[in-house]
Amino acid sequence: MEKIALYRKYRPHNFDNLVGQEHIKTTLVNAFKSQNVSHAYLFTGPRGTGKTSTARLIAKALNCSDLKDNYEPCDKCEFCTEINDGRLIDIIEIDAASNRGIDEVRDLKEKIQFSPTRSKYKVYIIDEVHMMTKEAFNALLKTLEEPPAHAYFILATTEAHKIPETIISRCQRFDFKRVTGKAIMTRLNYIAQLEGITAEDKALEAISRYVDGGMRDAIGLVEQLTVNGSLTFEHVKEILGITSYILLEELYSAIEKKDVKDSLRIVHDMHDQGCDLKQFIHEFIEDLRTKLLDSVMKNDFEKSAWLIKVVEAFQFAYEKTNTMSIPQLPLEIAIIRVAGNLKEEVVKEKIIKPVAPVSIAREHAPINVPVKKETPTSIAIDSGVTPDFTIEKIIEGWPRIVERTKAPALRMSVKNASPFRLDGSDLTLAFSSTFHKDKVMEHDYRVELEEIITSVFGHGIRILSVIKDIEIKSVVDEKDNSVDEALEIFGGEVVD
Ligand SMILES: [Zn+2]
Repeated sequence: MEKIALYRKYRPHNFDNLVGQEHIKTTLVNAFKSQNVSHAYLFTGPRGTGKTSTARLIAKALNCSDLKDNYEPCDKCEFCTEINDGRLIDIIEIDAASNRGIDEVRDLKEKIQFSPTRSKYKVYIIDEVHMMTKEAFNALLKTLEEPPAHAYFILATTEAHKIPETIISRCQRFDFKRVTGKAIMTRLNYIAQLEGITAEDKALEAISRYVDGGMRDAIGLVEQLTVNGSLTFEHVKEILGITSYILLEELYSAIEKKDVKDSLRIVHDMHDQGCDLKQFIHEFIEDLRTKLLDSVMKNDFEKSAWLIKVVEAFQFAYEKTNTMSIPQLPLEIAIIRVAGNLKEEVVKEKIIKPVAPVSIAREHAPINVPVKKETPTSIAIDSGVTPDFTIEKIIEGWPRIVERTKAPALRMSVKNASPFRLDGSDLTLAFSSTFHKDKVMEHDYRVELEEIITSVFGHGIRILSVIKDIEIKSVVDEKDNSVDEALEIFGGEVVD
């Protein structure tokens, strides 16, 4: 039997199944019930939110020979089945972005006058309608001004601002929203059950958050990331390179309670789980932004002011993450700044001023002691490497290396790497997860990365790799001490 892509199989086949667009569903159902369906609709909204599926639903409800309750297509009659398969001749789907689409729109004006061949109504579904030429829009406008009784139009676009006002005013417009994470999660759960996929709740929730409101992408990811009938959080996290949202929430609530110890504990847990710190901070700032906008809408200005401070502290950490030799240090500083009740002058004096992060790390090595005794900055004289080719320079230039890495799969893993030690022309990269380490060390990828580094720094190097938790003694072992040590460095004190 032919394998149907899950997102096709589970696209909404009737109005009851249309998820996450309640306002549109209600209006359409009422239009059918009162036999007041508009001849032209404009569907706008992000990709994967159900525009084309809804257009087909309308086509089915118009033509179904066994309509339930005056609105719900039966999904069984010849018209419903043929529309589902995309082969009913009277339903004309045009992709305005394709060459064929341009011709089809040109033909439209003449052909529209002919009655439908088999069904009651002709339905034109024009996708990516913003891509149409000016001439095509003009032709369409003429048709929309006086559509024949047997024809309906559904125009869909992700970029409503590119549609001429004259067209918009002829259509009933529906703005498709990003589907909420909760609605996506519910749908994914349902699909997993029907498909016999053993899916961890955390895995489904992570996908729901990742897709940013796109149901189609979410279903596609479930299909892609299911291995031997099971979908695990571990795998989803690894492949998508995402941070546990649970940790994001935990961190926020700890900071809000000004619980420095717990906040730092969360950072260490996250480090343990092999999260990409920079990605984590990025996601955290995104969450903060949502909270900030929310507090502004609620006129809670005290909270807004506090959130702005928090955003600033974490933005600073974000910028510093790739340049400090202890990757988690900027994050720890941010936490201590916002949750540690430090006097702001102390923070400015002691924390922001020292611009030589690498030297902080070396002076206060106990926070991150390499197990091996040799210094991480040894420079080989005998390999033709000049003294200014140092690990500090490589750390500083790492964002440029990430930038030049073209393959997305490699790029994600290069981002995860921290240059750790330079020994002659042997550059050791530290990774927080074996997944990223293995990716970079795949022969072709390793060679590609070596070439990039060589071209940026002008020195041939060979890449070696380590896993951070094994070779680098992490702060995690010194949970409570780390607070004291950090405070010692920054000259602050914890106020409970
Ligand atoms: Zn039907």
